[in-house]
Amino acid sequence: MFKCDNCKRITQPREKLTKYPVEYRDRVYQYERKRRTIATYGKEIVKEINLCEDCAKKLKNLEAN
Ligand SMILES: [Zn+2]
Repeated sequence: MFKCDNCKRITQPREKLTKYPVEYRDRVYQYERKRRTIATYGKEIVKEINLCEDCAKKLKNLEAN
């Protein structure tokens, strides 16, 4: 059981926890290859919240629209 960070409800014992990222940070990954430095850009999750099944469904629907 856990507390949903969105609706603050305590979930049922077998309810699935969904981690939902709410904050990202830009990140540069650098690596060396044949004496050249190659940089790739990506995103790193800074903060994520725990969601109950209901809230996870709702958020998924919002993203789909
Ligand atoms: Zn919830």
